[in-house]
Amino acid sequence: MKNYFIRVTFLCLISSIFLSRAVAQADLFYYLPEGVVYDESIPTPKSIVGHEIGEWHLTHDKLTYYFYNLAEASERVKVEKMGHTYESRPLLNVIITSEENHKKLDQIRDEHLKLSDPEVSTNLEVQNMPVVIRLGYSVHGNESSGANASLLVAYHLAAATGAAIDAILKDCIILIDPSLNPDGMQRFSTWVNVHKSKNMSADPNGREFAEAWPNGRTNHYWFDLNRDWLLAQHPESIARLKVFHAWKPNVQTDHHEMGSDATFFFQPGIPGRTHPLIPAGNMTLTEKIGEYHAKALDGYKRLYYTKETFDDFYFGKGSTYPDVHGGVGILFEQASVRGHLRETKNGILTFPFAIKNQFITSLSTIDAAHDLKAELLDFQRSFYINATKKNKVDENRALIIGVKDDPARTILLGQVLLKHKIEIHRPTRNITIEGKEFLVDKSFVIPLNQKQNTLIKAIFERRTTFQDSLFYDISAWNFDLSYNTNLAWIENKNTVNIIGEQMTDLELPKGEITGGKAFAYAIDWNQYFAPGLVNGLLQKGLILKVASEPFISKSGESFKRGTILVPVGIQKMGEQAIFELLEKLASRYHVKVFSLESGLSSIGIDLGSVSFNTIRKPKLAMLIDKGVSAYEAGEVWHLLDQRYDMQLTMISTEIVGRIKIDKYNVLILPGGSYSSLNSTAQDRIKNWVKNGGTIIAWREALRLLSKLQIADVKFKKVAKDSTKVISYADRSKARGAQVIGGAIFNMEIDNTHPLAYGYYQNTLPVFKKGTIFLEPAKRNISNPFLYAENPLLSGYVSKENLKQISGSPAVSISSFGEGKVIAFTDNHNFRAFWYGTNRLFINSLFFGDQISTR
Ligand SMILES: [Zn+2]
Repeated sequence: MKNYFIRVTFLCLISSIFLSRAVAQADLFYYLPEGVVYDESIPTPKSIVGHEIGEWHLTHDKLTYYFYNLAEASERVKVEKMGHTYESRPLLNVIITSEENHKKLDQIRDEHLKLSDPEVSTNLEVQNMPVVIRLGYSVHGNESSGANASLLVAYHLAAATGAAIDAILKDCIILIDPSLNPDGMQRFSTWVNVHKSKNMSADPNGREFAEAWPNGRTNHYWFDLNRDWLLAQHPESIARLKVFHAWKPNVQTDHHEMGSDATFFFQPGIPGRTHPLIPAGNMTLTEKIGEYHAKALDGYKRLYYTKETFDDFYFGKGSTYPDVHGGVGILFEQASVRGHLRETKNGILTFPFAIKNQFITSLSTIDAAHDLKAELLDFQRSFYINATKKNKVDENRALIIGVKDDPARTILLGQVLLKHKIEIHRPTRNITIEGKEFLVDKSFVIPLNQKQNTLIKAIFERRTTFQDSLFYDISAWNFDLSYNTNLAWIENKNTVNIIGEQMTDLELPKGEITGGKAFAYAIDWNQYFAPGLVNGLLQKGLILKVASEPFISKSGESFKRGTILVPVGIQKMGEQAIFELLEKLASRYHVKVFSLESGLSSIGIDLGSVSFNTIRKPKLAMLIDKGVSAYEAGEVWHLLDQRYDMQLTMISTEIVGRIKIDKYNVLILPGGSYSSLNSTAQDRIKNWVKNGGTIIAWREALRLLSKLQIADVKFKKVAKDSTKVISYADRSKARGAQVIGGAIFNMEIDNTHPLAYGYYQNTLPVFKKGTIFLEPAKRNISNPFLYAENPLLSGYVSKENLKQISGSPAVSISSFGEGKVIAFTDNHNFRAFWYGTNRLFINSLFFGDQISTR
């Protein structure tokens, strides 16, 4: 016989005395709903983690420990490990449903997935099918009330007894992602716990609330994982997408925190900012579900709001991604304590109060989905039928994607599409459309007549007109532009003839040496992973050269500017060892290496020519810490560490004035105010450039270069729409319209310039965020890249700003003493999915010192 306890009113009375909003300690009864009988054989969170929920911030280890223990004790709960983070923390998928459902879980899942298959979905009896709910917590690690609430939600679902919970467990499959960002959660929990006193202080000036740089919002490499659902560049998102597509949830929640003086927010967000590809029915269901949250929060007399902020426009967010999959994504935002106890405009805010809001709305989500089960299931079925079967327009449409040169970028793009379950095919033949050539073995075709029709449009359609001029995040993310591949739409009955075999797996090209041991080796710099190979050779002490002019070898292969040369005879390393090292690195970095038989070329420069410049071995340092954008620094760190295995020393802005920086030859300054860089540090950097160092900086960091007077940068004025009379009520809208939240522009490049090595085109799509615009330099040799005259490719920009961008410099190169300063107006490593522009940044590392400004 099991033992039970019940949370009854008399307990509540005792509790409520010390559970007013002002008191930070709470026991389990504070959170649980009244009148529910709980099975005592199910371990409470405290019995496993050693303290009440809300008393301390849970570390991720404790969270994991609880879920495994819960699964051990309850037949309702199963835990799957879906992957691990960069820091090797497990990514959990917790599945909660009735014991009966667990026994036939695969069958339920298979049936559920039929809803997204218009070929078979019409005959499904949705009344008899469970609804799938996925609860996702704290993708921002320092918004931890969600992750802390996840244990309570799981405990309640595992331990509650009675008819109500039985009905829910029978009709619902509840998937819990208890911590969407374990590494960030661990970082944040450590910070707040080490600052907590026994007698807690709510004073917002306390260090507890001023997290160290980088804060816990982001993952290990300081990326915002709530932007990565679509981009799928990180292990957390990749694992998460597998579960998403294995279940295609009907409702998916995303539990966040916002400013401490706010109350509580749940979607719907701003209706006018919903992405046009999201069907109206999604909004109707979001509103219906919202009524359940309102009712539940009303019951506890808790303040909240809807529709005034946040939107469903960018599909890379956890609450928007489900909206292009026939599901309903719901964003929750709780006023943040960012610690344990805090004074706010709404009185003292406690951590348990914040956790309880997340708990209440988790349960109201489940109740809503349970009540609206048939409607939600039917909505998902209709979504996929409308997207394909009913959609005659797309029947004969397809996209083709590819480039003639570097195959890796096309493959990397295709691999992301496969993660989104987008069907791709090999073309049946080589085809040229609008002057763009697509080769069978270097392209793929995406028929529009498939389940992921809406998502394909969401990724590839170009939009330059919008209902609203304000965006919570970026307004464009076209993958063909970010991967710098060609794209063409095929819109006729011949589409069928071009669709060849389906590709379910895409392998990166096999790296190898073409030819045997040779006089020298040449490496086409266009290949995406070539920098990894080149760095590997430099680190082994090899002398490498780069061609500043094209040539055709004696055996007839042609090589462009930027080709890397490994001359064998001048190396300390022996011929055989060089060959073996090259073979190893070529394979690791998927790079093709050519053997050259002779120093004499048939056309162009010979291999001993002065037009081959020796490459300096990069010794890289990057300034980080307060005043530097952690996102932009993290993007550099991730690129160099994960993709190219390059060593990077990250130096705090606070110590750079006290250390020797002579041992580095490249200093990277990501965007930032550099407010904590004192004058000693500034002098030291200035002298270092004078003595031959190369600075690479972008965006806001250009203001520092200007202040140090080491670069020829003059800023254009930012557009202000001063001619219009704006009402007080419209002031923030007018200001917002002049923000460039992120859009894509065309840039003209001088591809004879060292910064453009590896690019064989004259224009390049680039991402621009923010309003740094440069005046042209006195001599145009300083500005080898300019924004095109009509540069907008995709996304929102105001007319005034567009005018400022058109024809303006995208980079400024200056000499200062012996050194070089390379100043980009924009960040070319944005969110790790701008594969097309990474090379601009990499070129500045390898060739920056060789650039002539005369
Ligand atoms: Zn958040």
